Amino acid sequence: MKKDKLKVDPIKNGTVIDHITAGKALQVAEILNISSSETEVMVGINLFSQKMGKKDIIKIENREITQEEANSIALISPTASLIFINDYEVVKKYTVEIPQEIKRHIICPNTNCITNVEGVKTKFTLAGKSPIEVKCSYCEKKYSIEEVKFRF
Ligand SMILES: [Zn+2]
Repeated sequence: MKKDKLKVDPIKNGTVIDHITAGKALQVAEILNISSSETEVMVGINLFSQKMGKKDIIKIENREITQEEANSIALISPTASLIFINDYEVVKKYTVEIPQEIKRHIICPNTNCITNVEGVKTKFTLAGKSPIEVKCSYCEKKYSIEEVKFRF
């Protein structure tokens, strides 16, 4: 039974976001807009992990995390892995990858940026990996990932 490997209560259908950097689960929950979600969500913070010492975990019933959402999760927590569950079985599992380019989903903090003034769709490129920084393709300002807000 593959579900034993999760070391968490199983969910029937949905996505488990495992190996989230400890303390980052709430930020991940925010970009996924989980507070307004109608489905069952379980968030675990500072759980013991053999691999990481401590980790956070989020389990979402009846929702499949999209590639775009996975990319945003990677920016917050590059160690996160996604486990897709169908009828208590693991059907797919992968570690998120930090994207080189992020379209639309990051709001530029620069209020004078054309993306805010004229509502142009945002485009950011990865400017640094450790710590993670992104650069607005329009105003060309760089921001740490902690400084930007996500929108889906
Ligand atoms: Zn900008």
